[in-house]
Amino acid sequence: MKIIMLGAPGAGKGTQAKMISEKYGLPHVSTGDIFRANIKNGTELGKEAKKYMDAGQLVPDELTVKILLDRVAQDDCKNGYVLDGFPRTIPQAEVLDKALTELGDKVDFAINVDVPDENIINRMSGRRACVTCGATYHVVYAPTKVEGICDKCGSELILRDDDKPETVKARLEVYHKQTQPLIEYYDKKGVLKEVDGTVDMNEVFNSIVSILA
Ligand code: ADP
Ligand code: AMP
Repeated sequence: MKIIMLGAPGAGKGTQAKMISEKYGLPHVSTGDIFRANIKNGTELGKEAKKYMDAGQLVPDELTVKILLDRVAQDDCKNGYVLDGFPRTIPQAEVLDKALTELGDKVDFAINVDVPDENIINRMSGRRACVTCGATYHVVYAPTKVEGICDKCGSELILRDDDKPETVKARLEVYHKQTQPLIEYYDKKGVLKEVDGTVDMNEVFNSIVSILA
């Protein structure tokens, strides 16, 4: 099963992708996580990606598409995957479709987690991320047992640079201009599913499970 998570930054794509990954045993592939791992390790790709990420802009398609295609070609992805944060532009979606068509394959579900802009600033200013294991929390909606410390690995949590309000505004603009058109793109392909992302995360997940069942 090949699933794409669509939605604004902070809509809950990563949260739901992790839950889907656990329940269905599919790898969770996040281009944002791949970029952040590269930044942490000081790679050339990381240095290049950081310039765009810190400005709230998209990393250019050429770079992003290559890392994604390399990742989904790995052995653990052969029975499917959940894509979180990819595609973010129509050309990225077209490259993915072409690669899948060549394998006689296709995207099964594109799930749009719908959250209005008013809720996004609150979601992102409260998000706390673990740079060691990639876990995500929220100070109000998904708090850790000990404030500022990851429940899973004990590392310190951070507020992502790109979750600061001034960058969130730019990211939302980029989302509406470059990523939102993917909703229509996947609707035309007959694989679009919409879920209300404003409700409790377990309720969002229940809606997704009934779609995938
Ligand atoms: P995305 O991957 O779309 O950028 P995340 O999954 O990281 O978004 O979620 C953004 C923030 O909102 C996180 O802090 C997360 O814990 C919180 N969150 C996710 N889903 C919900 C929800 N349904 N209700 C409240 N907060 C949520
Ligand atoms: P995310 O973790 O999905 O919120 O992504 C964080 C940032 O990484 C985005 O704001 C972009 O700068 C970059 N990024 C992640 N995925 C993509 C993508 N598919 N295309 C372009 N840039 C991306």
